[in-house]
Amino acid sequence: MKMLSNGRCPKLCLRSATDSPTWVGALKVIDHLMGLPWWTRLWVLQEAILQRGKVTAIYGEIVAPMSLIEASGAILPRHHENGLCCKSFWHSLPSDQQITLERFSKTTSSIEAVREILSIIKQNQIERLLFLLEKTRDRRATDPRDKIYGLLGLIEDSPDPVVDIAPDYERDVTHLYAGVAMRFIRHQQSLHVLLNHEIKPEAAGSHTLPSWVPHWGATYGSPTPNLIKYRLSQYNAWPSGAGRMPELSADSRALSVTGKYVDRITDVTRAVDKAATADLGKTLSELDVCFGVDEGHLVQYQPDGSGSGSGEGGMLPYDAVWRTLLGDQVSEHIARKAEQEFWYASDGKVFFKTARGYIGSGPPGTRAGDAVYLIFGSLVPVVLRPAASSHRLVGYAYVQGIMDGEATPEPGWQEAVESGSADDRNEAEDGRPRRIYLV
Ligand SMILES: [Zn+2]
Repeated sequence: MKMLSNGRCPKLCLRSATDSPTWVGALKVIDHLMGLPWWTRLWVLQEAILQRGKVTAIYGEIVAPMSLIEASGAILPRHHENGLCCKSFWHSLPSDQQITLERFSKTTSSIEAVREILSIIKQNQIERLLFLLEKTRDRRATDPRDKIYGLLGLIEDSPDPVVDIAPDYERDVTHLYAGVAMRFIRHQQSLHVLLNHEIKPEAAGSHTLPSWVPHWGATYGSPTPNLIKYRLSQYNAWPSGAGRMPELSADSRALSVTGKYVDRITDVTRAVDKAATADLGKTLSELDVCFGVDEGHLVQYQPDGSGSGSGEGGMLPYDAVWRTLLGDQVSEHIARKAEQEFWYASDGKVFFKTARGYIGSGPPGTRAGDAVYLIFGSLVPVVLRPAASSHRLVGYAYVQGIMDGEATPEPGWQEAVESGSADDRNEAEDGRPRRIYLV
């Protein structure tokens, strides 16, 4: 490790064959070290980053500074990925040794990467907190409050302290998480943070939180949170502008937003799963059935009949299906990129059809009977589930034909919302924007 951290090539660290006892033994230690729960705990990040140089790893009889372990692992890809010096050496390694070394570099560079970004986002404390929450989705904390409290030490040296949270274990989890979500909503003047709520179901405390509050747990599917964020920023279903921002109820459970009903979901497929799909073609033909696409049927895709009939705004059904499958992000090298884009857009998602003929994709929890809504402050449509006098957020959706503002309310909608009765709890199927409550 010392040799590696000094920039020495891994191929020079191997002095004999890849099956020599010294080499195999060293890799075994690395493998065991990287498998320790220490690396997955949230509080550790704070220790590792703030106390750099002071943290010592003790492993049996070996005592080494943590910084040495970090530096030696994080540097590995430079030899075989970015550089050429150890490329053939890397490919000559048995695959289990490659896996061990890859895990070593991935685990150690995740700490390096956080340190690096924190030094860049120096000024803004809220952005720092958001970055850290994203980066620590996979880390665990026994008390869900520690997913947030465990990061405070990493943002407290900001020159512009605006996040005045102090660890308080009397504080209710919902109150804490909803309060943090509201800070992001106010700071970003948007509901973008709501799109973070999509998580694997086992995330700590997720079952007790209101549906709209992000749990900061691991996301499902293969796209990383960064890729999801990038893709979502390409849409403009309800362009930003003047309007009342969301408000939080006194008990921190309900978020009042301005919503516009689009349509009710009538048919839903199973979620597509990259890891379990051997034959993409078969999956796609199932989708054709759900969407009701028939090769001989060349009527234009014009849900809602709102098109003028001149052909403008309409498209061939296959074109609409493919745009939906790829989340409308079609590159020029479509044949080569299509499958990759499909999984970026759709891994873990279901496809659906609505009563008036829209097709789209949504979160795996989507059910027939859920509704597609636009909400002011979100550039992406959402799937909501009616619940008594309010709605639960199921997740964000791609809906072909409304992603570029086609379903945005007419100008002047703000006054209409303000004058409308806040008690009007009926399903807003007339499509007029009104206050709705997410719980
Ligand atoms: Zn090298």
